[in-house]
Amino acid sequence: MTVDRSAAVRAMHMAPRCGARTRAGESCRAPVCRDKNRCHKHGGAKGSGARPGNTNALKHGAYTKGAKAREKWYRHVFADVRSGVRAALDSVADLQEGDAPPAKSPAKLKT
Ligand SMILES: [Zn+2]
Repeated sequence: MTVDRSAAVRAMHMAPRCGARTRAGESCRAPVCRDKNRCHKHGGAKGSGARPGNTNALKHGAYTKGAKAREKWYRHVFADVRSGVRAALDSVADLQEGDAPPAKSPAKLKT
């Protein structure tokens, strides 16, 4: 099996370079890591850097669009429940004041 070494060497020479500023004041000449703009010594190492798409900004999701919409919906439902309970309590209070005859209990209604 023969390997075309000249092609491989040419490909290595054609690889994009890191370009980070070295302590000597020159540009780093090391090839960049895959899908990165820097070599492994200058921030291009595997696992370094932020994930694509600004996903590191999400901490708990409590203030996402979906969470805010859910909270708004719950507030609306609870307001409806509160007003219903208030109306029921008011009608019970009206009955207890004697304006209307007291409601018969369901057990008495059956007999
Ligand atoms: Zn470098």
